[in-house]
Amino acid sequence: MIKLHDLYFKPFVSETELDSTVQNLVDKIANDLQDEVPVFVGILNGSFMFVSDFVKKYPKPCEVTFIKLASYEGVKSTEDIQRLIGLTQDLTGRHVVILEDIIDSGNTLEEVHRIFENEHVASLKIATLFYKPEAYKKDFKLHYVGLEIPNKFIVGYGLDYDGLGRDLPNVYQLKTTKHMTNLVLFGPPGAGKGTQANFLKEKYNLVHISTGDVFRFNIKNETALGMLAKSYMDKGELVPDQVTIDMLNAEVEKNADANGFIFDGFPRTNAQAEALDNLMQSKDSTINAMIALEVDDEVLVQRLLERGKTSGRADDADESIIRNRITEYYNKTAILKDYYSTQSKYFGVDGVGSIEDITERLSKVIDAL
Ligand code: 5GP
Ligand code: MG
Repeated sequence: MIKLHDLYFKPFVSETELDSTVQNLVDKIANDLQDEVPVFVGILNGSFMFVSDFVKKYPKPCEVTFIKLASYEGVKSTEDIQRLIGLTQDLTGRHVVILEDIIDSGNTLEEVHRIFENEHVASLKIATLFYKPEAYKKDFKLHYVGLEIPNKFIVGYGLDYDGLGRDLPNVYQLKTTKHMTNLVLFGPPGAGKGTQANFLKEKYNLVHISTGDVFRFNIKNETALGMLAKSYMDKGELVPDQVTIDMLNAEVEKNADANGFIFDGFPRTNAQAEALDNLMQSKDSTINAMIALEVDDEVLVQRLLERGKTSGRADDADESIIRNRITEYYNKTAILKDYYSTQSKYFGVDGVGSIEDITERLSKVIDAL
C-alpha cells in the first residue's frame, strides 16, 4: 500500500501486467496498420510513460507527437478541458492513432475529436491503456482498449494524484475503505501480553481479537462455525485453518468501523499467516506489524512461579512445565518471526520494566508504522 498526499492506494496492476497489456495493443495496432507509417499522438501528461513503452515496442517506423490537455482536479474529472498545447504539425493525409492513458468520462476524448475535426487526416483511431466503461458518457468509438477497469481512481505509470504518483512503475487504486492499523501481538507465557493488549486497544481504539476467546464464544453460543469447530475437536482432530479464519472474518466484520485489530493467538503457522494476509487484503487492508514482547527466560520463570502461588493454575506452579511452555513458544513463533521479518514487519519490544514503560515502548513502534 502507498500514501500520496492524504490518500491511500493499493496495488492494482503490476509492471508485468502493464507490459503485456501494452504489448497486446502494439500487436493489434501494428497488425491493422501494416506498412503505413502512423503518427502516434500522446495526450499529455498522463500518457507519457505509456507512449514511451508503446513506441519502443512498435515494430515498424512511426512518428510520435503530443498534445497537452488538462481536465482532472484531484480525483474528479471536470467538464472544462483546457487545451495547453495543441497540434504543432500538419497531419493532412496521415494515419493517426491517439494514445490515451485512460478514458473516463470521455470529455477529453471529445476535445481530441474537436481538435482533429478540420485536420483532414486519412484515419483517426483511438487507443487507450485504461478504460472505465461505467464512467464513459460519450459515443466515440474506442478502437483499442488495453484494460477495462472499475470506476475507481488510479495512479501510477504516468497517472497522478495532484502531481504525485506519475513516476510509479506499477498502477495503484484508491482505497475507499478506512485505513486500519492491524497488529499481531506475540509474547511468551508470562510476558504480559494480555495486560498490554488491554492498554493498546484503549489507546488506539483497536479491537482485541483473541483466538481462544473467539473459539470459546462460538462454541458456547453454538454458532454454525462453533458447531463445525466442535465437530473436529470432538473427533480429536485439529480445527482446519479455514474454520478459524471464517471465525476471525466474522469478528472483523462485526467491527467494520474499528481503527484496526490486535490479533492474539493467531497466526501460529506460515499457512495461517498467509490466510490472515488474504483476509486483511479482502478488507482492503493489511497486517502492519508483528509485535513480540521479549522477556528473558529466567524472568519469565520467576514471574510465572510468583503468579502460580496465587493463581491456582497448575501449569504456573511447576518449573519444568513452565520451561517447556517457554521453549515451545520459541519453537512455534520462530517461523512467524521469519515470516514477518522478511516483510520488515517484525518488531521485538523489551518486555521487562513497569507496565507503563512497556506500553510506552509498544506505542513508539505503533506510532512509527
Ligand atoms: P475523461 O476526460 O475521459 O473524464 O478523463 C480523461 C483524463 O482524466 C485522463 O487522461 C486522465 O488524465 C484523467 N483521469 C481519468 N481517470 C483517472 C484516474 O483514475 N486516475 C488519474 N490519475 N487520472 C485520471
Ligand atoms: Mg490524460
